[in-house]
Amino acid sequence: VLDYFEQKCKTSKALAERAKEVIPGGVQHNLAFNYPFAIAAAKVDGAYMWDEDGNRYIDFLQAGGPTILGSNYQPVRQKVHEIVESCGPVTGLLHEYEIKLAEIIRKYMPGIEMFRMLGSGTEAVMGAIRLARAHTGKKWVIKVGGDYHGWSDQMVYGMRVPGTGRREAHGIPKGSTAYTQEVFPNELGSLRRKLMLNKIRGGTAAVIVEPLGPESGTRPVTPEYNREVRKLCDEFGALLIFDEVVTGFRVGMGGGQGYFNVKPDITVFGKAITGGYPMAGGIGGRKEIMMTLAGGIGGKGGKRAFVGGTLSANPLSCVAGYYAIEEMARTGAPVLAGRAGDRLTAGLKEIMNRLGLPYVVYNMGSIVHLQTSAVLLMSMRNPIKLMREADARKHLMEEMGAAYLSRGILTLAGSRIYTSMADTDDVIDDALNRFEDVFKL
Ligand code: PMP
Repeated sequence: VLDYFEQKCKTSKALAERAKEVIPGGVQHNLAFNYPFAIAAAKVDGAYMWDEDGNRYIDFLQAGGPTILGSNYQPVRQKVHEIVESCGPVTGLLHEYEIKLAEIIRKYMPGIEMFRMLGSGTEAVMGAIRLARAHTGKKWVIKVGGDYHGWSDQMVYGMRVPGTGRREAHGIPKGSTAYTQEVFPNELGSLRRKLMLNKIRGGTAAVIVEPLGPESGTRPVTPEYNREVRKLCDEFGALLIFDEVVTGFRVGMGGGQGYFNVKPDITVFGKAITGGYPMAGGIGGRKEIMMTLAGGIGGKGGKRAFVGGTLSANPLSCVAGYYAIEEMARTGAPVLAGRAGDRLTAGLKEIMNRLGLPYVVYNMGSIVHLQTSAVLLMSMRNPIKLMREADARKHLMEEMGAAYLSRGILTLAGSRIYTSMADTDDVIDDALNRFEDVFKL
């Protein structure tokens, strides 16, 4: 495997060395491929990525999830070119495509009566929490342990101090996470207890969940979980926030809320909301709640949760998002991408069984989890042990990821795969042969 990188990826290696001089750690995307060194992409199209040395890979990273239509999808690219010709990327003024984007989101997710565009999933989570607090006048926020909600101070789980059991990363004072609480996934009893306790000390503003469970279902939740969380939120007057940064449009045009038929109060969007173009973030929800962003119903007299962003809702991002959503609906991209995920998962299972490998693969449509080291799941209750195992596992994942790459398959950190509409049966069957080669190494 290492020979492959030395012999076939010389340009990437030189770029990776150069990057280390001017970019901390040599990579901007923490989950991008960086073992044994970062691979530099020269071109992406549909199901494929070509690196700077001209090697072609089946692209199951798909930019980390936003490109459900496949990479660099031509009809959306065309519309982006047109808007750049007329407006450039940004004007700072109202543009019709802001309205069209909000309208088309509402068409497929009727619970999103109003929508506010922001710059990223992280920003959208920050905005959603501020909105929930301003709207309810309460302060506590409960999240599910292991969920990733971006890198803001208050949602920082996972950015731990290496080698210790401490959760908060350096640079984040304890006060920043003072009103953030965590519960284990699927544990409704502890969620209820926290909600009860908070009731007598200021109240819970929101419970925030990823509808598939932490890290897009790396630790899956039961189908009833979201419904039960909804009920508990209603009982205690907390708002339910769905983080649909990954699931929005990916698990279906109706997102996780359509899939599970559970209505959140606030929805957070990212990734697919701009079809893979920059400034992908936004918050949506019922008018009554969303108007708190404008100072209350009618835009006056109420509390106001402030959000901003110079480049938020720029015409380029809005056009890209609008046409990506329109194209996803027209082509049935979420369903096609989901079928590709099903085919890949079934094929991988068959290979693993035939070769007698103790690996785990499962999917939720186009989100495929491939665990070739399942230790993490075994010690969820012991944080110190969990972290040591997570470190060991991370390296194993990196090695597996490098092995896949050396056989022409690009994954997300060796353990997650995003399929897209571009993954035809031929692409998936080719990928299965390549995976089998790796498993036989
Ligand atoms: N929430 C979830 C569920 C995510 O997966 C991510 C990004 N992977 C984020 C929030 C943060 O989004 P962004 O990277 O756009 O800040």
